[in-house]
Amino acid sequence: MPDTSNNSSLQQLQGNWSFPTAVSFGVGRIRQLPAACREEGISKPLLVTDAGLVKLDFVSELIVANEQAELNTGLFSDVKPNPSSSNVEAGVQVYQQGRHDGIIALGGGSALDAAKAIALMVGQNRPLWDFEDVGDNWLRVNADGIAPLIAIPTTAGTGSEVGRAAVIVDESRQRKIIIFHPGMLANRVIADPALTTALPAALTAATGMDAFVHSLEAWCASGYHPMADGIALQAMTLISQWLPLACSEADNLEARSHMLAASMMGAVAFQKGLGAVHALAHPLGALYDKHHGLLNAILLPYVLQHNKPAIEDKLIHIARVLELEEISFESFLRWILQLRETLHIPNDLQAIGISTEQSKLVGEMAAVDPSAAGNPVLLSAKQYAALFEAAVQGNLQGVSM
Ligand SMILES: [Zn+2]
Repeated sequence: MPDTSNNSSLQQLQGNWSFPTAVSFGVGRIRQLPAACREEGISKPLLVTDAGLVKLDFVSELIVANEQAELNTGLFSDVKPNPSSSNVEAGVQVYQQGRHDGIIALGGGSALDAAKAIALMVGQNRPLWDFEDVGDNWLRVNADGIAPLIAIPTTAGTGSEVGRAAVIVDESRQRKIIIFHPGMLANRVIADPALTTALPAALTAATGMDAFVHSLEAWCASGYHPMADGIALQAMTLISQWLPLACSEADNLEARSHMLAASMMGAVAFQKGLGAVHALAHPLGALYDKHHGLLNAILLPYVLQHNKPAIEDKLIHIARVLELEEISFESFLRWILQLRETLHIPNDLQAIGISTEQSKLVGEMAAVDPSAAGNPVLLSAKQYAALFEAAVQGNLQGVSM
């Protein structure tokens, strides 16, 4: 073996790569749910979804179709938009009382994350926070106890269906905690773009921008992961081409298909890392209970401006890939601002009722958020607080570079 210990450029070319989820993709694939349950050895599934979705006809239709296939299916829908540990505990109870043997996770990021945490917790003796994604806490998990899970996304945004983590709110500490275990990966994903057509334009825009930010932050994150980089670039291309159409024509299945694919690609890509946009969005979501994708979309230009010295070349490359008229950092930033305007996303956090009052706390929480490690430049709590204040006030020029 050659000795590479003194070769620092070779030492950088290292990483842990993983994209193994089986995905059944396409319009109409939802009809394969009963067969998928059987193939995964599930005969008594618990369907986990959120309080809004459960009112839609197609959820009861899914349960009827399962019953016809002799799959006795339970229902749990007590999941908040930012799911909490009490939601997870309630779901675990329903699972155990109903003697279920697997989970169908149906919904956007909230329902999918809650379902993944429930699937994890039905077989553990330790409390949920023992599995926070810190160090090697995940080794504490009894992997044999994790329930099999089929994930069915109804939004094109978080890509939680292909992720190995769940973001759960610790209500007592007002913090979003990332729970991680490789076994939290869905056994199967059924990605049916028709299920995303019920999403209103504003949520289509916010979730779609979340997928864009996943791809962008992954592309800019430090670390060596050429597979994630390639996937991130193609996801941004798809989103730039199809997100405005998915918002303006809710039933456009071609646009919905490309957005659903892109959202999974964004989530696959961000195993490389995220950055300061997410580091700020996580505490803001926990403190103000605002939509995650909307927060990201508002924060993005301010963070790009701040990161400019470290990411200019990378953004110029995206400008080239997206075939913008002018190839420069500034033209890319202008394009982002225009895209947000087209999607009716506000320019500042003030517009969604966030003030600078808690900026010190926001800065402190952002600096220790796990996503902060991926940002190409490390920011102090003070810098995060200043960035947050600029985003509240809509002061893009005031962001230091
Ligand atoms: Zn996100």
